[in-house]
Amino acid sequence: MLDRSVAEALDRDDPLALCRERFHLPVGGIYLDGNSLGPVPRAVPPRLRRVLEEEWGKDLISSWNRHGWIDLPRQVGEKIARLVGAGAGEVVVTDSVSINLFKLLAAALELRPERRVILCESNPFPTDLYVTRRLLELRGESFELRQVEPEELPAALDRDVAVLSLCHVDFRTGRRHDLAALTRAAHEQGALALWDLSHSAGAMPIGLEAAQVDLAVGCGYKFLNGGPGAPSFLYVARCHQQKARNPLAGWLGHRDPFAFASGYEPAPGVGRFLCGTPPILSLAALDAALEAFEGVDLAELRRKSLALGELFLERVKERCAGQGLEIACPEGEERGSQVSLRHEAGYAIVQALIARGVVGDFRAPDILRFGLAPLYLRYIDVWDAVEQLRAVLESGEWREERFLRRGVVT
Ligand SMILES: *Cc1c(COP(=O)(O)O)cnc(C)c1O
Repeated sequence: MLDRSVAEALDRDDPLALCRERFHLPVGGIYLDGNSLGPVPRAVPPRLRRVLEEEWGKDLISSWNRHGWIDLPRQVGEKIARLVGAGAGEVVVTDSVSINLFKLLAAALELRPERRVILCESNPFPTDLYVTRRLLELRGESFELRQVEPEELPAALDRDVAVLSLCHVDFRTGRRHDLAALTRAAHEQGALALWDLSHSAGAMPIGLEAAQVDLAVGCGYKFLNGGPGAPSFLYVARCHQQKARNPLAGWLGHRDPFAFASGYEPAPGVGRFLCGTPPILSLAALDAALEAFEGVDLAELRRKSLALGELFLERVKERCAGQGLEIACPEGEERGSQVSLRHEAGYAIVQALIARGVVGDFRAPDILRFGLAPLYLRYIDVWDAVEQLRAVLESGEWREERFLRRGVVT
């Protein structure tokens, strides 16, 4: 592949090309960080204005009924259900990923009361690890966190494991687990499977129901574009809903919150995993954001995501050879929706790229990460981003002092 017209042709033939119109995107820049914070979908500002000015502004507290605020956690959950292959009444939107993970892991331990082990991989997203460890501490000394390298997971599953808890796509390397096969392996040992879909929901079909996944959580502000701090979603397979218990038994998970009863009775379905009052502004933003997925074929989304990644890697190999970059993500089906590269000066290189309008991010210790959101990225964006990366490396401009200063958030 030699010239940019190849990328232009791919864009012309792209069945998802029109979806780009559904977003506000930076003018003249290339946004490759939608796996960390998705851009603003065009449907969001008018929706937020309506909620502020009409619903909250005029109808005030009656909006809980009149505008269905109270139903939003379940209603937005139904929209996400299609994106993750869940059935009706299996997904609800509430709290953050960290909190939902805590709730579902605690429920999983109670669903397998004779077992004492949570199995996860050696280097997951840190919050997943912190929450899991702390939960096990609370449960007592006989409980154990077993951590192994990804390829050792099947062998580490035995009849002591209550739940296999994994991130579907690794946030550093972009490596994607075989969700169906590992879920099956967990079930063969009588363990439950819990998946963190933070880096896959909204970028590919997931098929939770088809794979008989037991429990899952996922992020609202990454590929789902729900906005900074958007609430996350959780999934509980129908077969577990009667028995699974929420350790944070808040009033909105009660069967009848407005009975104000002193005894707790969980709601019948997945709604029992709600806790407190839902954040309506954030939920409304996420609800409107999900309109960007309307009519989108998820298989097509995945196909494009892989093709964007393939083009990115191909161009890096051709244009950035000999610059000390190493490819840190898998090729083909084993890759999620991002490309990861490795360089010892990764942080400064990413900063220099951002100064040129190409926004990726850096993950310690040495990962340059580029999220490829297939709903709004074009093949020419990928093409041009790699040209900018080459320019940064060739010029050595990343060595400038200003690119070494680190903010609190990387
Ligand atoms: C982004 C992400 C989170 C975020 O957790 P919050 O509690 O919502 O901040 C958790 N886990 C993984 C794997 C993530 O990628």
